[in-house]
Amino acid sequence: MSISRFTSADRAPEEPRAEVARKVHVVTFGCQMNKYDSLLAEGRFRREGFAITSELHEADIVLFNTCSVREHAEDRTWSWVGELKRAKEARPDLIVGVMGCMAQRVGDEIFDRAGHVDIVAGTRQFARLPALVEEVLHRRQQGLSRSAARVLALEMDDPVAIDRSDEPWDGGLHAYLTVMRGCDLNCTYCIVPRVRGRVISYPIAHLVREARGFVEKGVRVITLLGQTVNSYGEDFAPPAAGEPELRGRQGRASLADLLYELQAIPGLMRIRLITLHPSYVTNALAQAIAQCSKVERFLPLPAQSGSDRVLKAMKRGYNRELFAKRTEILRAAVPDIELASDWIVGFPTETDAEHEQSEALLAEQGFVVNYIFKYSPRPSTHAAEALADDVPEEVKKTRNQRLLALAAETGLKRHSRHVGETRRTFVEGTSEKRPGELLGRTIHGMIVSFPGPAEWIGREIEVRIEGASPYGLAGSAAADPRALQVPQQVPQESPSAEQSAT
Ligand code: SAM
Ligand code: SF4
Repeated sequence: MSISRFTSADRAPEEPRAEVARKVHVVTFGCQMNKYDSLLAEGRFRREGFAITSELHEADIVLFNTCSVREHAEDRTWSWVGELKRAKEARPDLIVGVMGCMAQRVGDEIFDRAGHVDIVAGTRQFARLPALVEEVLHRRQQGLSRSAARVLALEMDDPVAIDRSDEPWDGGLHAYLTVMRGCDLNCTYCIVPRVRGRVISYPIAHLVREARGFVEKGVRVITLLGQTVNSYGEDFAPPAAGEPELRGRQGRASLADLLYELQAIPGLMRIRLITLHPSYVTNALAQAIAQCSKVERFLPLPAQSGSDRVLKAMKRGYNRELFAKRTEILRAAVPDIELASDWIVGFPTETDAEHEQSEALLAEQGFVVNYIFKYSPRPSTHAAEALADDVPEEVKKTRNQRLLALAAETGLKRHSRHVGETRRTFVEGTSEKRPGELLGRTIHGMIVSFPGPAEWIGREIEVRIEGASPYGLAGSAAADPRALQVPQQVPQESPSAEQSAT
């Protein structure tokens, strides 16, 4: 098989641009991080004169942005990629690419299994995708065979520090902002560190500039993304002598510092965080959330298990007591904070009693939203190599269902606590299910539906909460639904007063 590795040293050949813009269609699997990366890739294509299409059948280039976290996610990708084999036979000019986590994990074996794929590009190659497409076109124009025209790009050297503030914007109210890439932890079940590499945090000034650019285009809500978003800045050097000390470890910049900077951006209304890791919950972060009115009082803080033995086997870096201490730090500073969690059921050797400890922790912490996954061994992870996947599928299913039922019960209890209260709500759009109603998100990150006119979309209003379900709220706008005046500045206080809990 002849495949050329396309490295950062290679140049996109200078070809005359096609008169009609080539159309790109991106299919995204997996998490918000992948959604962000797809937007990033689309932005790069637009800049290079390509067009983006939502119709797969009219695309000249189809790219799959893939997920590797569970086997099921990879199976879905293979079946979608397989579907394109026929299309490619009918239209040999079509370019098919596989990018992201699965591309990074499986590499050139993708070409062996799916001979109609032309590009395999890893998790730090998004900025270069247009160049990779140009390279395939160039090789084809030179008369190279289909297999010789393929490109493989898996280098992890590009920090992907792309400023999107100058890109055309579709007018949406919400934007993702990746504040860090990669993961430096090593949970034994997880493929992410292998496919996404070591942590790179982007400088605060770069992120603030990008956030301001979004707000100028009409964005009102920004979600800050990172695999362990609260470890933001841990990879920075501590300040040199004479440089200001910030709120992170040994004076480094931290997520708390970034939140204060974003809070001060006029016009930005909401800041969301995905996903926190318990080990990096600090007093400084809790204080920042308390003091920054734009930060939603909702944090995803995955526990994964309630059993100390399983947590140790997962190498999560905390036990149940430590987890509870971290939530106490948050609740002491922000008493009404709502927490969400991820859980893995059926981790190797997990017993029924240990599973019950997960149920107990879910109930004890009262997580309002819970994502529950059946353990899926991932090749080359420590758990897959050292431990047999010995919890039978039926048992995993039962534990999954039990935890789901408990999650619904807990979700209902948490949502019900808000009934009778009036909540600051950002209006996101109209309800598809209930004509005439709007959908918004309360400051606690809860979805609320209520009657109102479309002109409220993009504003913050007060909503009286009148009903609850396990997954959301219903209410009505308070008597005088004026847009709230969100304070643009935060109280100034000495960062040195904060202690890092990590
Ligand atoms: N970084 C986040 C954290 O540490 O909590 C989570 C990122 S991971 C991409 C999303 C979720 O997938 C994890 O929280 C975990 O519950 C689940 N997950 C990861 N690896 C898994 C595996 N091998 N089998 C089942 N679920 C898995
Ligand atoms: Fe995976 Fe653990 Fe890193 Fe989360 S913290 S991405 S679960 S290794």
